[in-house]
Order: sequence, then structure tokens, then C-alpha cells
Amino acid sequence: MLDRSQELERIALIEALNVMDPALGRSLDPVTELAAFTFGTPIALISIVDADSQWLISRVGLALQRTDRHHSICSCAIQSPGILQIEDLREDPRFSDNPLVTGPESMRFYAGAPLVTRNGIALGTLCLMDRAPRVLSDTEQRQLQTLARIVVNQMELKMSLGRRDPVSGLPNRQQFQADLSLLSHADGARHYTGVLLDVFDLQSANDAGQALGMKPVESLLRQASLRVQEMLQDQAQVYHVAATRFAFIVRDHSREQIEALMGRLRERMRRPLMVGSIPMSPQFHAGLCDFQATAEETGDLVRKCLVAMHHALQTDACLCWYSADRDAHLRRRYRLASDAARGLAQDQFSLVYQPRYDLATGQPVSAEALLRWTHPLLGPVSPGEFIPVLECTALMHTLSQWVIEHAFEQAARWQRLLPGFALSLNLSPRDFDNEQLWTGMANRLHIHGLVPSQIEVEITEGQWLHGHPAALPQLRAMAAAGVRIAIDDFGSGYSNFGYLSEVPISHIKVDQSLVTGLARSRTARLKVEAILRLAQQLGYRTVAEGVEHDSELSLLRLWGCDEAQGYHLARPMSADAVTQLVLACRAGPLADAEHE
Ligand code: C2E
Ligand code: MG
Ligand code: MG
Repeated sequence: MLDRSQELERIALIEALNVMDPALGRSLDPVTELAAFTFGTPIALISIVDADSQWLISRVGLALQRTDRHHSICSCAIQSPGILQIEDLREDPRFSDNPLVTGPESMRFYAGAPLVTRNGIALGTLCLMDRAPRVLSDTEQRQLQTLARIVVNQMELKMSLGRRDPVSGLPNRQQFQADLSLLSHADGARHYTGVLLDVFDLQSANDAGQALGMKPVESLLRQASLRVQEMLQDQAQVYHVAATRFAFIVRDHSREQIEALMGRLRERMRRPLMVGSIPMSPQFHAGLCDFQATAEETGDLVRKCLVAMHHALQTDACLCWYSADRDAHLRRRYRLASDAARGLAQDQFSLVYQPRYDLATGQPVSAEALLRWTHPLLGPVSPGEFIPVLECTALMHTLSQWVIEHAFEQAARWQRLLPGFALSLNLSPRDFDNEQLWTGMANRLHIHGLVPSQIEVEITEGQWLHGHPAALPQLRAMAAAGVRIAIDDFGSGYSNFGYLSEVPISHIKVDQSLVTGLARSRTARLKVEAILRLAQQLGYRTVAEGVEHDSELSLLRLWGCDEAQGYHLARPMSADAVTQLVLACRAGPLADAEHE
């Protein structure tokens, strides 16, 4: 009798081999026919015994496709080491009341050869039945077993089709997944570690492929696969899961043992390999993940190893272990990216506005539109988090269009209520991929009857402008139409006034990381003063962001900074609140401009 875990493994294998596929049954029909013909029985069957039923996937002489496992003679046959032969079913108390014996079929004889796979698991039988008692000779029994082996070979061959990598000949990702799912039914108490290994930078492989053709590259991958196999001989089966990636599973190793093994593997892998006559250095980035052999954990293993391996690639580490925190972070990013479109359709996005003050007059002169997203389950999500995520997707264009439309509507209202009050909005480098960006904006400006000089576009400083051939002409067209261009977050990255001369800028916004806490940091003071002086000399208007304290404001005034924005002056607020604030400031004494 099979124990529970053996039986589960058997059922999993039936699934993995996909033996219920009708195409497999049809391809086995000639063997069934040959069996009936050779042994002269009216009935020959290939039966698969699963958890509750017996499935007759290929049949001669019987219309029945399924019976209850309870009534299955083959269910007994799969437990027997060799052929199960019942010369007369009526005489055997185990089967004398079987419906096939007592019913209209009136079966008397049964001989079943178990279909045993490479790993010793019996899936069902190739069986013969007759309406008269009979006996198979030893030779006939051996022949029946040979036919049963042909059936299993065919099943395994069919399964292995598409399960090997054509370059290395190693089992591929499909096989890896299939073997993993079998593992989940094996010994649940063992402790396993999955390893995913990237041995060659795909870009370099593509470059080499373009220059030399694919043959040398394939030879390189074969050499790499041989090295991994040699190193892991007797320890693990190696799978070739993607062009430059291999995977394997090790059992009951401590972290120290695995890391030592990976160290040795890395030493071996790093030695140059020849592509044609060029020595190439394979790389070595591995993602590792511990797991238990449960269906849930094996089902998610490849993904987790991928998370860990990408971490290794990004940090140029030799190996990284899977981290649930990092995984949660990635999943959250993915979730934001996939929920954003619905969020936009369901009005989950809104704009708030943060006033900006002229330091000479103390009056609010403009407001910056800042995007907000209240996710129905995650709550408020900061643009600092979702903008970088959406910038990697095509949705960024749609979102920016939404911002432009809503900000312009508001600007039009303010143009009526607060003459001379300007509005600035943020655009991301990604927005400039859209060559129609400015044409679309110009159209909306016109429709809302806006004065272009009352609109400011903030773009972040950085080298991105050079990588965007379409950006400069669009920025120039905006500036030519009178729209102001501001460089946001100046001083946060590799700040460089040099490239700015190419861009038609009117304002420089000094990054809040330099402004907040200015009074306490001598370095920040030196930097901000120098930036302000140079920007003024170059003819830009200067704006300080992130003003949180009065002391910062005093220093900025001293250095002649033109405008300021920050929590000390006003926090981001609703459009109506901005309107009230500006009206009050315009009506009252100038000192009122500085708000907490
Ligand atoms: P940013 O354009 O530099 O905007 C200033 C950010 O600093 C805003 O954060 C604002 O709320 C915050 N802030 C203002 N004063 C202070 C202060 O005194 N102290 C501190 N600690 N922070 C202050 P927010 O709204 O979270 O936006 C973050 C970034 O997200 C923005 O930085 C901008 O790069 C981006 N962003 C926001 N809205 C949009 C949008 O509509 N489109 C695009 N492309 N990016 C946007
Ligand atoms: Mg900004
Ligand atoms: Mg900024």
C-alpha cells in the first residue's frame, strides 16, 4: 500500500506528465491494438489511476472511459511489483462482485502490467481482459511488460518535448517548474535552497551575436553550462532556464555551506571563456532563496529567486538572498503601476497647490501644482513614490495630460480672480518622449484663454536632456511662446550650469535638501550662496524650495534670493485655500505673507 506522500507524488506526476491529454491517448492506440492482437484478447486498455477514478485513455473492445477507482482492478495492479494476473475474476473474492464481472460485460480474465516511470512510480496499467478464463505464459507476460514499457517511454518522451534547452541540452525552465512541483509532494520536512544564476550580460551576448553570429555565442553558453554542471556534479541537477541563466536546487545545506559552494562556483565561472578568438569574462550574479517543499513555496520559488538575482545584478553583488522586504517593495511598485489607470478613471488623483512668495514684496506670486493620489486600499501615496514608478510606464503621459488639463483649468480661474498670479506644474523627462507635448499644451492654453507668461513648467535638472533629442526643441517652443521654464531641485544631483545655457530657462529652484537646515550647515550655506550668486549673474530668477525656518528665510533674503517656497511660508493646500490666502495677502499688510 502506498503511503499518503507517495500517493500525492504519484498524483502530481500524473499531472506533470499530462497523461490525460487526449492526443497522448490517440498516439498510444496502436500499442493497445497491438496488445489485443498479440494476445488475442477482445479487450486491451491503457488505464491511468488517479485519486478517485480510473481513466481508460486508450481502449480496444470497451466503450467505457472512466470507472470509480473503488471498482478498478488496475488500482490493485499498480501496487504489485510485476504483472497482476487473475485467471478467473469470478473465483477471486476481491473482484467477484466487480461490476465488470457481474454486469453485462461478464469479464473473467485480467492481466495488467503496471506503467512504471523512470523514478519508479506506477501511473496505471496496460491491461488485457477476456470473457473467458485464461493464463498468460511467462513469455507472454514478458511481452506484455515490454509493451507497457513502450507506453511509459512514449509518455515520458512526449513530456520531455519542449523541456530541454536546445543550446545546452539541459532541462529547461518548464522542466524546472515540473520537477519543483514534484518536490512539493516529496519529503516536506527537508530544507531546500533554490539558486538562480546569471552568467552572462545579455547585452554583451547580443553585441557578440551581432558581431560574430550566434554560433560562437551559443558555444560560450554551452561552455558556461558545462562549467556549472561540472561544479555541481552529484550535488544538484542544473537547469538552463533562460538564455544566460541557470538554476538548481540544493538540499539541507546551511547558508555557510551554500555560500562556500557559490564562492567556488564563482571562481570557476569567472575564468575567461572563448567566443571565437576573443576571451570573454562571464559574469556571476546569483539569487538565492530558501524554501520548504510545499506547493505554495515551490510555486513561487522562481519569482523569488528572480527578485534576489535582480538585486544582485543591480548592486553588482556576487549573490543576494531573497528579502521579503524588498519583495514587498517591488510588489507595491507593481501594484501602483497596475492600479494607476483605474485610479485616474475613478478620480483618485487630485491636485494641491503650494504658494510661492516674492521675497522682495513678501507677496505670494504663484503656486505649484502638486499631484496627490489617494489609493482606495493603500491610502495616500506620495508623488515621490508613485511618479518614479509611473515614469517607467506609458501611463505617465496620460497622467501628465490630466495634470495639465486640471492645472490649466485652475490657472484660468485664478487669471480671473487673482490677476498676475502664476501657476507652475511639474513635467517629467518621460513627458518629453511625446513629441506632441507642446502642441497639446499650446492647444489647451488657447482653449482656456491663458496668458502663457502666467504658466511655468518645472523640469528636473540632469543629463536626461541630452538623451532626449525631442526635449530641447519643445522647451524652446514653450519659451518662445512665453511659458516660463524652471529648473527644479537644482543642487541635488550633478549640478552643472554648463548645460543650462542650451535650455531657455527663466528660474532656478534650489533644492530643498540644501535649503532645509541651511542655518545649521556651513557647507549648505556655502553651496546655496554660490548657486544663488552664479544664477543671478547668469540672469536667472532664483527660488529656494523647502524653507522650513525663519533663519533660512533671513539668509536667503540676505543673499538676494528672489522667491521662496516651503512649509514655513505655506504648505500645499486646496485651490480655494490658495485663493483665500492670496486675496487676504493682497488686501492686508505685506508682513502677512509669511504664514506658518
Ligand atoms: P518638487 O517638484 O520638488 O515639489 C516640492 C516637494 O517638496 C513637494 O512634495 C512639496 O510638498 C514638498 N515641500 C514643499 N515645501 C517643503 C518643506 O518646507 N519641507 C519639506 N520637507 N518638503 C516640502 P510632494 O508634493 O510630495 O512632491 C514630491 C515630488 O513629486 C515633487 O517634487 C515632484 O518632483 C513630483 N511631483 C509632484 N507632483 C507632480 C506632477 O504633477 N507631475 C510630475 N511629473 N511630478 C510631480
Ligand atoms: Mg517642482
Ligand atoms: Mg523640487
